[in-house]
Amino acid sequence: MLSLLLPPTCGVCRSPGSSPCARCASELVPAAETPAPAGLESCRALIAYEGTGRLLVTALKYRNHREVLDHIAGPLAMLADPSAVDVVTWAPTTGSRRRDRGFDQARLLAEEVAQALRRPCRRLLDRLPGPPQTGKGVLERIGGPSFTARSVVGLRVLVVDDVMTTGSTLSRAAAALRREGATAIHGLALARTPRTGPAAVERAGRARQGRPGALKCGG
Ligand SMILES: [Zn+2]
Repeated sequence: MLSLLLPPTCGVCRSPGSSPCARCASELVPAAETPAPAGLESCRALIAYEGTGRLLVTALKYRNHREVLDHIAGPLAMLADPSAVDVVTWAPTTGSRRRDRGFDQARLLAEEVAQALRRPCRRLLDRLPGPPQTGKGVLERIGGPSFTARSVVGLRVLVVDDVMTTGSTLSRAAAALRREGATAIHGLALARTPRTGPAAVERAGRARQGRPGALKCGG
């Protein structure tokens, strides 16, 4: 592969070296803690989807910088309680998106998290046909995509997603899993869009100033 012949570059700022580089890693802001979306026992997110955090997700999602997984998978998995989880799955993207990119970033995240938690990773959800969430207005997104689930009778499921906005995707996924017998559903997102309001504006300001050491990530 050509990429093996090229020197490594930061997937966020494209400077030579590790990906993300130390500077970009220091600019990541932890996601705010908010109540779990309807239908989930708990839900955590790692980073705020703004500034450098948004660029990092873009690098993974649209520019195939899978090496950033090495940096974020461990801290992401540490947000989950393995004693409360029997199986890990993901909220699948649309089939056309996956074909365009050649991979499903939520599945990659789920596989890494499952490995860290020493739990199986299984495809439990199928997304029913519908337009992708990206680029739709907030009001249009509240309904969220619909899913069907495989049988999960008696299991406690951890659903991994890349970006959490309204929480409707995870709520719809939880509803499908509950219909098929899941006893508990937990959510885990790589990034969460900041809440609106003065606190969010203040956080965004701090992020722009590059508050050092905002998120302790290994690697
Ligand atoms: Zn960088």
